[in-house]
Amino acid sequence: MATGKSKNQSSLVLHKVIMVGSGGVGKSALTLQFMYDEFVEDYEPTKADSYRKKVVLDGEEVQIDILDTAGQEDYAAIRDNYFRSGEGFLLVFSITEHESFTATSEFREQIMRVKAENDTIPLLVVGNKSDLEDRRQVSLDEIRAKAEEWGVQYVETSAKTRANVDKATWKSPWVAMAPGLGQY
Ligand code: GDP
Ligand code: MG
Repeated sequence: MATGKSKNQSSLVLHKVIMVGSGGVGKSALTLQFMYDEFVEDYEPTKADSYRKKVVLDGEEVQIDILDTAGQEDYAAIRDNYFRSGEGFLLVFSITEHESFTATSEFREQIMRVKAENDTIPLLVVGNKSDLEDRRQVSLDEIRAKAEEWGVQYVETSAKTRANVDKATWKSPWVAMAPGLGQY
């Protein structure tokens, strides 16, 4: 018998997303912009933090849990535990730092190794700091070629202006699993 009881937090479907990428690319800034609608200039946590927010995904209210990694990922055991717990991954680099783009290949390999049994991992490549176009070091051609090779989507964001932040932080990782949510 239906009681009209509304769903509480704990009964909502939870999607766990992990922010992965080199230091300084804007993982924390993106996470905080998504959570609180503000650009936090100097957020330097020494450990990973996770955040939860309710969003409507494909007409259904769900919870997104974002794990903002912060350097301990250098320790393979800790990193692998994080990656194992992730359902979707945002592979973040800064368009102003070519090295951070190169690093995404290594991060992707680490994820694939941990998730070996799963051949389709919702993974989105995110080029952050799009507001700094004049300092761009990574060409769109180069990024698109890589995204195509990996069979993943690419989105450019700015944690500063909030451009594409919602798309990147929760919509896109699920596009592969739930077609119809949108194209980028
Ligand atoms: P993390 O190490 O990947 O978590 O990077 P942070 O979020 O701490 O950001 C590193 C630095 O880049 C900080 O000074 C941020 O203010 C800055 N930053 C992050 N995202 C953006 C962005 O989209 N645009 C600009 N201009 N600066 C950003
Ligand atoms: Mg950070």
